[in-house]
Amino acid sequence: MAEQCDVVVIGGGLVGLATAAALVDAGRDVAVVEKEGRLGAHQSGRNSGVLHSGLYYRPGSLKARLCGEGRRRMLAFCEAEGLPARVTGKLVVAATPAEIPRLEDLHRRGEANGLAGIERLGPGGIRSREPHAAGVAALWVPETGVTDFAAVAARLGERLAAGGAAIATGARVDAVAVGDDGVTVRAGERVWEAGAVVNCAGLHADTVARMAGDEPPARIVPFRGEYHVLTGEAAGMVRGLLYPVPDPRFPFLGVHFTRGVDGRVEVGPNAVLALGREHYRGSPADLRGLAEALGYRGFRRLAARNLAGGVGEALRSRSTRLYARRARRLLPALRAAHLRPGGSGVRAQAVFPDGRLADDFVLSGSGRAVHVLSAPSPAATAALPIGEHLAALVAERI
Ligand SMILES: Cc1cc2nc3c(=O)[nH]c(=O)nc-3n(C[C@H](O)[C@H](O)[C@H](O)COP(=O)(O)OP(=O)(O)OC[C@H]3O[C@@H](n4cnc5c(N)ncnc54)[C@H](O)[C@@H]3O)c2cc1C
Repeated sequence: MAEQCDVVVIGGGLVGLATAAALVDAGRDVAVVEKEGRLGAHQSGRNSGVLHSGLYYRPGSLKARLCGEGRRRMLAFCEAEGLPARVTGKLVVAATPAEIPRLEDLHRRGEANGLAGIERLGPGGIRSREPHAAGVAALWVPETGVTDFAAVAARLGERLAAGGAAIATGARVDAVAVGDDGVTVRAGERVWEAGAVVNCAGLHADTVARMAGDEPPARIVPFRGEYHVLTGEAAGMVRGLLYPVPDPRFPFLGVHFTRGVDGRVEVGPNAVLALGREHYRGSPADLRGLAEALGYRGFRRLAARNLAGGVGEALRSRSTRLYARRARRLLPALRAAHLRPGGSGVRAQAVFPDGRLADDFVLSGSGRAVHVLSAPSPAATAALPIGEHLAALVAERI
């Protein structure tokens, strides 16, 4: 027999869980349907753990508006729940004079986005913050922090269950029917009937949108981010968060150093094309997924424009020596022997048919369905206000 509720949320990552939490707060009956056996198993549990400040984003974009509020609320949630979180500040370092104009642009963006206390530093200032780092200029951004997003996802799930939401794990949605009077969501034998559905399926959001009869404006192309961990002695070379100036052609932040809440220092993530949507380091390639990417015009255009950069990333992914050489731009004493392989995460990068990469949240859907086609970084930081934004959209539809 079908289970009845007001709203079905597909996907138990941070965006789905935060949306469900906002709906429960608004008095709605909610079911969260997640294909894995636990919550936060994909992007939400496999990331850098950084509570972003809002430095990078185009002023006025949804990312810029939701990041600062999201960080403050995520910190408050962690504090209230006894979860680890710290405001550490971060250093963004220009390695060469050519990067200074972009550093200055970031400074302007940060101020336009309302960040407090950003400081411009020279080489001496860099050494006073991070004694082993090198560069010609830097920004000190005091509001950035770190947390454990996997723990946040697990706790949000517990709070939801305690608040009366139904959490179905191990339930892969395979059919969605959106009608004028309601929606039906199926996961194998289980069926839910509801007033609306919110698709927060991350790496599979476009597939689920098509299942529901939507023709999404972009497709997901998976980019794997691989981490290394600094070995014991080398970890002492990094105090906090150390970032390069990002390449403005890509929405990725560049390989950085992150001292996490557990004290470990991770280096990464890079950005290599994943051979499948869940192709993590060490897991088998999904050739159907690769064929799907190659068959997409948007991906072919993107690849044609970025062939050299893509090949360079793939080579660094296979060679610790080359990976260390790239990371050495910020930390000259770093050696390949200081790195041991760490985890990896796969980014759900939405790509438009003309090959452009989506660099803000992308929503689609009509009637009783909302599809979150792109919830890129800082969506973990900003999950709570994103969830409220989505819950308000759904409220208009039931
Ligand atoms: C390497 C990396 C580093 C990052 N670093 C940061 C950072 O430091 N700070 C930050 O703020 N953000 C960071 N991000 C971004 C952030 O992690 C994501 O934006 C955020 O977690 C997206 O959450 P989500 O809920 O949309 O997706 P996900 O966490 O991927 O959740 C989607 C869920 O949907 C489920 N699902 C998919 N298909 C189905 C189906 N058919 N039926 C049922 N369930 C389904 C999946 O199993 C999954 O659990 C990073 C991301 C990556 C990959």
